[in-house]
Amino acid sequence: MKKTIKDFDLKGKRVIIRCDFNVPIKDGKITDNTRIVESLKTIKYAITNGAKVILMSHLGKVKEESDKKNKSLKCVALELSKLLGQKVTFINETKGKKLEDAISNMKEKEVILMENTRFEDIDGKKESGNDPELGVYWASLCDIFINDAFGTSHRSHASNVGIASNVESGIGFLIQKELDMLLPAINKPDRPFTVILGGAKVSDKIKVIENLVEIADYILIGGGMCNTFLKAEGYNVGSSLVDNDNIDFCKRMLDKYPNKIILPIDLVVNDEYKDTKGVNKLINEIEDEEMSLDIGSKTIELFKTYIAKSKQIIWNGPMGVFEFKNYEKGTKEICDAVSSVKGKTIIGGGDSASAAKKFGYDEKFTHISTGGGASLALFEGVTLPAIDVIPNVEDDVTNFKKKTI
Ligand code: AMP
Repeated sequence: MKKTIKDFDLKGKRVIIRCDFNVPIKDGKITDNTRIVESLKTIKYAITNGAKVILMSHLGKVKEESDKKNKSLKCVALELSKLLGQKVTFINETKGKKLEDAISNMKEKEVILMENTRFEDIDGKKESGNDPELGVYWASLCDIFINDAFGTSHRSHASNVGIASNVESGIGFLIQKELDMLLPAINKPDRPFTVILGGAKVSDKIKVIENLVEIADYILIGGGMCNTFLKAEGYNVGSSLVDNDNIDFCKRMLDKYPNKIILPIDLVVNDEYKDTKGVNKLINEIEDEEMSLDIGSKTIELFKTYIAKSKQIIWNGPMGVFEFKNYEKGTKEICDAVSSVKGKTIIGGGDSASAAKKFGYDEKFTHISTGGGASLALFEGVTLPAIDVIPNVEDDVTNFKKKTI
């Protein structure tokens, strides 16, 4: 079991919490504060237990000096301060005297948020490249490091792996919850276990398919992805999105697991990629100039029969171009069907999580992961480096490099 924030005496200690404050911002305003809200439990625990709380996070990508302007975490400090009901001091630096002085002057229960860790990427990708010196430096600013940014835990960065390799560390409540939900679902699934995969491309999810097809009872495939599978079966998918490099992979999967991989029997097509009304067509009726933008009504019914008999569902990727009003039906109906299942229902972050929210179903699932890429990595069966590095409870605390989840 990984060490958690609860395994430490935080009183009077400088505690860095790596959060995921990578929130959408438009015209200087946060448009969705979910990620900040999700971080509150760990932050409040640290405050209540008398820590000096130093928060860090990345925000978007920062490649050059001009990117800094729109990628400051200052607005997050304001939002957080409102949510916590206490002052959050924003330090517009990622290293240096100003930050160090602010930390040394902290009193118990005070909160500091430092500037976007990716500002360190301008000069040689030090954050994203896990520059060893940067990890050592950030670790020197704290007594205890808590990683609570699940969304970046599949990446080895200075602000997660780098720090955790150099100071006592544990995970926060958000990561704990993600692991508690996702690991048993893969390692000991309730059966029948159905995986629903959609989204744009097969190439992004090859390893997920390879791993989950062995574990799941059924894999329902919709979204842009299904076109490559249908083409592999010999259907004409017209001008639909197809991953030509992966047709052989799809063929292999279909040959090996003919009863597990369930493909659409009809699709909604349009003659261009546009939010205008489409035509519901059987998969053998699609013409050269047509492209599929959603699963069809017969497919929705077919998928619902598998969903209804499942005791556990993992869903990643929308069934169609749900951003278009005319092509949201498949995703919406599958969302509705999955949310009615009496069993474990998990959405693996990303666009399917946005869809569930958009359609008002977000409270109706057992778990919606906060990390699209990180949950996909777990579904691929790989360990997450930023969690891997956290010691287990029984480990010698001076031995910082650690163990599998
Ligand atoms: P992903 O990030 O791989 O889950 O892909 C999500 C994206 O897939 C969404 O923006 C959808 O619009 C897109 N998508 C879903 N179905 C289709 C489709 N049939 N054709 C093209 N794009 C699609």
